[in-house]
Amino acid sequence: MYRLYYLSKWVENLIMANKTFFVETYGCQMNKSRSEHIAQVMVQNGYHLIEDKKRADILLFNTCAVREHASEKAISNIQKTIKDLNKISRHPIIVIFGCMSQFLKNRLVQRVPGAQIVIGTSNIEQIPQYLEEYTRKKKKILDFNLPSTSQVFDERGYLRNSSQIFTFLPITYGCNNFCSYCVVPYTTGPQRSKPLLTILKEIEKIIQDGYQEIILLGQNVNSYGLDLGLKNGFEVLLQTIDQNFHDSSIWIRFLTSHPKDMRPSIVDIVKNSPLMTRYFHLPIQSGSDRILAAMNRGYTRDHYMGLVNYIRQTLPDSGIGTDIIIGFPGETERDFLDTLDIVQEAQFEQAYTYIYSSRSGTAAYQLPDQLPLAEKKKRLQLLNQTLSDIHQIKLKAWVGKRAKIMIDQIEGLNASGRTTDNQRIFLPNSNLFLGQVISVVVINTLKGKLYGELVLS
Ligand code: SF4
Repeated sequence: MYRLYYLSKWVENLIMANKTFFVETYGCQMNKSRSEHIAQVMVQNGYHLIEDKKRADILLFNTCAVREHASEKAISNIQKTIKDLNKISRHPIIVIFGCMSQFLKNRLVQRVPGAQIVIGTSNIEQIPQYLEEYTRKKKKILDFNLPSTSQVFDERGYLRNSSQIFTFLPITYGCNNFCSYCVVPYTTGPQRSKPLLTILKEIEKIIQDGYQEIILLGQNVNSYGLDLGLKNGFEVLLQTIDQNFHDSSIWIRFLTSHPKDMRPSIVDIVKNSPLMTRYFHLPIQSGSDRILAAMNRGYTRDHYMGLVNYIRQTLPDSGIGTDIIIGFPGETERDFLDTLDIVQEAQFEQAYTYIYSSRSGTAAYQLPDQLPLAEKKKRLQLLNQTLSDIHQIKLKAWVGKRAKIMIDQIEGLNASGRTTDNQRIFLPNSNLFLGQVISVVVINTLKGKLYGELVLS
């Protein structure tokens, strides 16, 4: 009987060994990291990752639900992929998982009838088991259970993209903040912090694997450890990383900081650690206190500017990036002008701007005074122009300055890299290699880019 069991397992493994898969990722860095994790789990279960979607036996779609337009585009891409493959007589197993599945559940199943396995954000490590089950029973599998509070993924590691010099390392999952426009707390569940020891082990492995930059990820990294009972857990984490890897040359970046939870003590640690890069991504979302309250963001513009000023004073060479939403329900001309005003005051180095995207199930979904799209577009254009003007002035101020950059892109003889404050500098006709840390002097700015030359001394 046992012999029969092992024989059938051996045959099963042999079949598995021939199974290839391809992962398509939509959305944020967190999703990219999640795809690297699921790829690792698949490989550990005998599957082979391939680059060619058309040849794969299994297609995994890791989806995002944050913006309606992007979700719709993802659905039509998946539908088209299935149709195109069927036309050439390819019938891979389609697995859809992630935030969009969690958000739409059976509505997604109906819209993509060609998908065999549709699961949410939880139980993604079960995908190999679900594939086995589907292969045996040929019955559609759906699983939309949300993560329990204690669940932390990724203990089984990541199949990282080894051609890059940086890599992502999630330190928290989920979010407790319930900003009124956001689906993330509904699709990913409450915040769960990865244990500190696990993070340290992962960093050690990442350094051994030859990466030179780690981006610590979380919806709100500043609240790391709260669910583990740690007060100021993010400071504890950064200090422990600094103590343990002080002698390495790794650069540590973190995303995203929440202005409600960002603290001067975090800035102080960044200042005192040679590992920490000088860039803070601090989404303001709106410059109007009225709108910030309606968004349930938990801070005022004064609080926000207090943080900006502290960062500027403590680390004058740092960069501050932000996200801004235009056209939140009820946003008046006055509210919008407040946003333009804070943009001028904060002088952001980087900004991602969006038109408000209404998502069912969120608190803001039912709010009255949804602005006409034309008005939202007009405001977005004005905002982007303001940001672009600031950016141009900042770029000009770079000319003549020296900086240290890490080369992270090479095309032929052209290389580029980022400073620790996240400013990209291009070096045409250079002879550099990925990961090299060099000193440059900025010699020119052209079409929104900085160009530099190597400094040898
Ligand atoms: S902090 Fe707010 S915007 Fe960010 S993920 Fe959580 S709920 Fe969404």
